[in-house]
Amino acid sequence: MKIYNTLSRTKEEFRPVEDGKVRMYVCGPTVYNLIHIGNARPMIVFDTVRRYLEYAGYEVNYVSNFTDVDDKIIKKAMEEGVSAQEVAERYIEECKKDMKAMNVRPATTHPLATQEIQGMIDMISVLIEKGHAYAAKDGTVYFRTSSFPQYGMLSHKNLEDLESGHRKEKEAIKVTGEETKEDPLDFVLWKPKKDGEPYWESPWCDGRPGWHIECSVMSKRYLGDEIDIHAGGEDLIFPHHENEIAQSEAANGVKFARYWMHNAFLNIDHKKMSKSAGNFFTVREIGEKYDLQLLRFFMLQAHYRSPLNFSAELMEAAKNSLERIRTAADHLRFLEAHAAAEAMTPQEEAAAKEAQAFREQFKEAMEDDFNTADAIAAVFELVRDSNQKTNEGSSRAFLRFYLELLEELTGVLGLSVAPQEQELDEKIEEMIRERQEARKNKDFAKADEIRAALLAQGIVLEDTREGVKWKRA
Ligand code: AMP
Ligand code: ZN
Repeated sequence: MKIYNTLSRTKEEFRPVEDGKVRMYVCGPTVYNLIHIGNARPMIVFDTVRRYLEYAGYEVNYVSNFTDVDDKIIKKAMEEGVSAQEVAERYIEECKKDMKAMNVRPATTHPLATQEIQGMIDMISVLIEKGHAYAAKDGTVYFRTSSFPQYGMLSHKNLEDLESGHRKEKEAIKVTGEETKEDPLDFVLWKPKKDGEPYWESPWCDGRPGWHIECSVMSKRYLGDEIDIHAGGEDLIFPHHENEIAQSEAANGVKFARYWMHNAFLNIDHKKMSKSAGNFFTVREIGEKYDLQLLRFFMLQAHYRSPLNFSAELMEAAKNSLERIRTAADHLRFLEAHAAAEAMTPQEEAAAKEAQAFREQFKEAMEDDFNTADAIAAVFELVRDSNQKTNEGSSRAFLRFYLELLEELTGVLGLSVAPQEQELDEKIEEMIRERQEARKNKDFAKADEIRAALLAQGIVLEDTREGVKWKRA
């Protein structure tokens, strides 16, 4: 299996630290609002990576945090006159609802920054002891970037270039002595509280952690010092991930993550998504118009390292494509329910053997840096083959074979081809109409038969003055 590693800027053969196991960390959202469709991209992409790794036989420990203390959360809490914790808890719940609707599985662990403060204080203390960090007079603790010569390894920036970009600032520090930082490239590990902000006690001051230290600490706690995959959107490469590497490797003394994966950005109508520019959608808004599985399918049609453009037309096109796959599954189920023969004929056996090639094609695409676009192309070829080779005369075993292979491959992508709830509802309502018709014609036997058939599916009817109501028992 090959993974493109941002560290080396090449596709590398995947070799986990421990055979058969994968330790994976994905930077999660800051929870101060409903998530937007850009945030959904890493969730969908890396959930698919996880699903494929499991399909390939790995046991995956998947950790993804919620950043639940941050300037934006505090600002929102102040605007609403509630606590930061209340804001964070609310949007974590909402985020989980969106994840479920997009078929993004819950992580093995979803740590919260506010529950890991002691670990952060411990790691910062180690960094200070080792000379990689220092506390300024006001209690702010900074990472001493110059103590970590590999700084810049992930973003492929070198320290000297970074320094020269800040020469003026550096001169200013020397002249005024006002800045508390030794160097403009140094970043915050711990900062003093401001009025009305949540804070924790520490050896340096009452305050709260910087953002970067969170992930280093949570990754260490739940996955160990050395992990296999660390992932997030490409905007996180610098400075967030660069800083995480500096903190973790300086504190732990071992390589932090073997493979760094980054998804490209999602744009809307070819423009950067922005609230003020009016091109901005929350996942919830899209969910009002479409089944969110469609958003997932839409995202997976592109390779995760390619920029992805979102527009209403592209969603409509994706809808038709996904419909093609689902219709094929529905058709197979219909034929199966009416199949006369059980076992495959020799011709069917030969066709089924040949169709195994689609699974291989799918796997080959996924093994090549998770090329979901090509994997979906393999699914479409399977659909085409199934449509051509199955009919009313097919055996049950042959139809099952296609349906199961289709479910297997779409399942790896986190897409369901099960009968849709909406379709089920329509079928139920159709049966109710038939029953009303039967009653009108005084065919009570038929009416009772339909009621019993519905009951067998767990549907209970209630005759009311306004008409027939139904519910799932
Ligand atoms: P944030 O809450 O801003 O830290 O973002 C959470 C995750 O969403 C990070 O991995 C970001 O890189 C990612 N992200 C934010 N905006 C976009 C976007 N427009 N396209 C793709 N990923 C994004
Ligand atoms: Zn992070």
